Amino acid sequence: MSETIKPIPDIYSNQDYGLGEAIDFEREEWKRAALCADPAYKDVNFFLERGESSKAAKQVCAECDVQEECLNYAEDNNERFGIWGGKSRRKRQKINQGQ
Ligand code: SF4
Repeated sequence: MSETIKPIPDIYSNQDYGLGEAIDFEREEWKRAALCADPAYKDVNFFLERGESSKAAKQVCAECDVQEECLNYAEDNNERFGIWGGKSRRKRQKINQGQ
């Protein structure tokens, strides 16, 4: 009896996803290393309500290998909410203004 070997999906090709449009996987590659996507941090809130502490989220970001990419993504996409790259929106705005 022969064993059927399933091909490993090519994550750099969208043909297995049926998305209908090209995704710039190279540009989004950094998301694979996003520490906040680790189930170990599923209870850490990166999108805070007014008055909530960002300390836990920033601690996760401080250990993340893709902080710079994350921060750049937030800037490029004008992300208005949440902690990105260990920075709040206000802090990101100050960085963009050169402060
Ligand atoms: S820097 Fe923070 S928000 Fe960005 S991917 Fe890493 S853990 Fe997530």
